[in-house]
Amino acid sequence: MLETSYIDSITKTEPQSLEDLLELLKAYLPDKDLKLVAKAYEFSERAHTGQVRRSGEAYIFHPLGVAAILADLRLDVSTIATGLLHDTVEDTSVTLEDVEKDFGPVVAQLVDGVTKISKMSFRNTHEKQGENIRKMIVAMGKDVRVILVKLADRLHNMRTLGHMPPDKQLRIAEETLDIYAPLASRLGISSMKVELEDLSFRFSQPESYYALAQKVAGNRREREKYIEDVIRLLYQELGKRSKISFDVSGRPKHLHSIHRKMLASNVDYEQVYDVLAFRVCVSTIPECYEILGHVHSLWKPIPGRFKDFIAMPKANNYQSLHTTVIGPNAERIEIQIRTHEMHLVAERGIAAHWAYKEGAEASGPNKEVADKFNWLRDLVAMHQQTNSSDEFLENVKSDLFDSEIYVFTPKGEVKEFPEGATPLDFAYSIHTDVGNHTVAARVNGRLVPLKHRLVNGDTVEVITSKTQQPSKDWLKICVTTRAKSKIRAHVKAEQRKRALEVGKELLEKSFRKNGTSLQKHLQGPLFDKLLKDHGCNSAEDVFVLVGYGTLTPQQILQVLVPGIKPESQGSGSEEASFLQRAFKAVVDRKKKSSSLITVDGMDDMLVRFARCCNPIPGDPVVGFITRGRGIAIHRADCDKAFELDQDRRIDVEWNSQQKGEASRMVRVRVVSQDIAGLLRNMTEVFSSSGINIHNAQVKTTRDGKAISVFDVSIRDTIQLNQVISSLMKIKGVIGVTRVTPTT
Ligand code: MN
Repeated sequence: MLETSYIDSITKTEPQSLEDLLELLKAYLPDKDLKLVAKAYEFSERAHTGQVRRSGEAYIFHPLGVAAILADLRLDVSTIATGLLHDTVEDTSVTLEDVEKDFGPVVAQLVDGVTKISKMSFRNTHEKQGENIRKMIVAMGKDVRVILVKLADRLHNMRTLGHMPPDKQLRIAEETLDIYAPLASRLGISSMKVELEDLSFRFSQPESYYALAQKVAGNRREREKYIEDVIRLLYQELGKRSKISFDVSGRPKHLHSIHRKMLASNVDYEQVYDVLAFRVCVSTIPECYEILGHVHSLWKPIPGRFKDFIAMPKANNYQSLHTTVIGPNAERIEIQIRTHEMHLVAERGIAAHWAYKEGAEASGPNKEVADKFNWLRDLVAMHQQTNSSDEFLENVKSDLFDSEIYVFTPKGEVKEFPEGATPLDFAYSIHTDVGNHTVAARVNGRLVPLKHRLVNGDTVEVITSKTQQPSKDWLKICVTTRAKSKIRAHVKAEQRKRALEVGKELLEKSFRKNGTSLQKHLQGPLFDKLLKDHGCNSAEDVFVLVGYGTLTPQQILQVLVPGIKPESQGSGSEEASFLQRAFKAVVDRKKKSSSLITVDGMDDMLVRFARCCNPIPGDPVVGFITRGRGIAIHRADCDKAFELDQDRRIDVEWNSQQKGEASRMVRVRVVSQDIAGLLRNMTEVFSSSGINIHNAQVKTTRDGKAISVFDVSIRDTIQLNQVISSLMKIKGVIGVTRVTPTT
């Protein structure tokens, strides 16, 4: 078949029976493990009896296929058994307890993890997607094998996707491209990544896929001959030049990567260079560099295309030398040089570290390997700190998809970051304390500000100060999950601390004014009731609520000191009432508006809407950090916004979750003929849309026209536009405009 012949470099083993699977496993598992696999197979076959797949074949072929994919990765017996059992709990009457009884707690936990992930659907709403990836990451954080089984499950489903209806094909293919292929890539399992990408490409964009497949097939004979020629030349010429023993292989890159290249540089297939990649495998690292030297003396390398992933491995542990040279017939070809061991890791990624080792129980990655997959741990930590799924998703995405840069510590140690990383990301990668106190950095000896973007090869030295404190603005500067979660944690703790201090002070003053002491009332049944009523665990929680203005000192006095008539607010000390007013103002404003806007996924910021342009939900907006008055929100096209200090400009977004729950005041001006009854028609447009009119004024002009001005509550631009077009339809109306004070 045309399309599958290009998905090479993949071991495709479709076992037809338990015996086929055992044959694969015999190569690396001992006999006692094979017995367990046979037991799992029989258990699964019994459970799935009577079930058929869409293709019409018995269900058991699916778990069998999944187990074979896991066997290709040479995974341990628990993982293979999980592959066989992975759908039993979800799809049959089997319970988790049954699995645990027969196969022990490890397999039961793995099956449970896979079942949980299978219940997630990743493509409903944006919010849900974040929430689901979040759960998936947590499942993965506990045991990576869960994700390996899930990836194998998805791969097998993708191979048999042709039996699904087209709308399902599209949804599953897109989900695979969005989530599973990047995950496989991040886990370093390139064999899976390549196959998942090409299968997704085929089902999500069939037209582009087949057009490209045809083009690639068009010059296939020619190209195969060329590949053979290059391989022969490499054997011949490298053999002449060195005594090293090596293997050479060559292949076209997979279709999805060619497609991506065409899109990225906006060219046709004919203009995509280096679609062919050749691989030379040797035994040792020095041999890699020696071969590289010979390749470069044989064919001219293209400047800037040499990458040393041996000295600087990718985050997913991938190691290899890459160079692009001008080969025979002046064609560009990519040549990868690596050791056999590196090749194994490249194909199997993290799975290579789980693989069964002769004579030792496979017990998961050792510490050294685990360290290289640190990002996993960071993601789990991140999950525990964030409440917002959007925020989490953003971070997961940047961790999964961004390409990497490599920078050096002053001691020459290499650190790897996503593109766009700044000295702050670097500082937090060293230690939270270093990050929290960073004021600037020296990059290659030159002093740079915190927002400086690091590039490949920079040497970075952090400058700290004891008095420095992280701020929310820093979240805009950082790109790594680690830095962002540390900053967020610090900012949240600081805010709470400030609210707590203010709240406690307000309460103490209020109690003193009423002739008693706060301290005396912080225990006993009344106090316990107060805690319970407001969901607090401690007096500190209460202080925080008072600090934020959620509770007033008067309310608390009345609960804790029954019978007391609290002194009125006005008689409180100047300072206390000032603080109180300040906080009340903050809270009021928060209730009204700030939750309408999110900054970086946060919606708890102090926000005010600029009067000059009076933005409403749906308007493109920008934010400006003010001195002590939170963030001012302007319409993106507001003249005033261009005059403000652009360094203080930040990206803000309308909070999609607040839609329809809040409204903003808008002034609408209608110019019309001065006809009786028009005003009533106009007010009817508002009231039939459920819009409150707060104020209306009508003026008539000497030339027989009426100018009506309405101040109305509007939900968003959609509602506003609907109203404007309804007003325009009224006979006699000449023009309707949204008015801002400056227009
Ligand atoms: Mn399945």
